[in-house]
Amino acid sequence: MKTKATILIIEDEENIADFIETSLRAQNYKAVSTRMGKEGIALAASLCPDLILLDLGLPDLDGMEVIRKVREWSGMPVIVLSARNQEKEKVEALDLGADDYITKPVGTSELMARIRTALRHGAAAGTQKSENVFITGGLQLDFGKRIVKVNAEEVHLTQVEYKIVAFLAANAGRVVTYDAIISHVWGPYMDDNNRILRVNMANIRRKLENNPAEPRYIYTEIGVGYRMAEEE
Ligand code: CA
Repeated sequence: MKTKATILIIEDEENIADFIETSLRAQNYKAVSTRMGKEGIALAASLCPDLILLDLGLPDLDGMEVIRKVREWSGMPVIVLSARNQEKEKVEALDLGADDYITKPVGTSELMARIRTALRHGAAAGTQKSENVFITGGLQLDFGKRIVKVNAEEVHLTQVEYKIVAFLAANAGRVVTYDAIISHVWGPYMDDNNRILRVNMANIRRKLENNPAEPRYIYTEIGVGYRMAEEE
């Protein structure tokens, strides 16, 4: 069988690293792992992996430093492995250029889904997006015509609502931080007050979701941001 992508695991907890390595190999990925940040940075440069899975608490360096160093020269996808209740850390990692995070303990199916999404985004980076229509479930967004439909019915969104939905759709499957959305929609000088974003999101959900309390298209990542459902 053909080997898929090469994935570098930087994680000092042996159980977790072993579990991830085994899961990846079972799916035909090539996996290389290290428990040290410095060696991780060196391996990132020498191996040029297709993706990095990164723990933030490493024995020799802060994982944030790994992201910073790798981002100096590469846009390769980085998924952070983070503990529960560390929203601040997740946001910081995403703002430094990590692509996504997975909360530990990691389940195999979630791990694989996140890896596939990040690899797809990594491969698409730098190439022109040929697909001009985003579809997930009954939601359809035409970027060219700026038209949003739910179950084939056109939905009227305000300019701001459309910008939010289009930005999330362009990053579908990945979490987008509140700050990233706010600066994309309102510009970098907007107060990082999330209230206006939350108000807009409530309106968006009322228009798009069948049951806004149980969204199927735009999920809340509590304390971090929003995630649009993966494209189908
Ligand atoms: Ca650790």
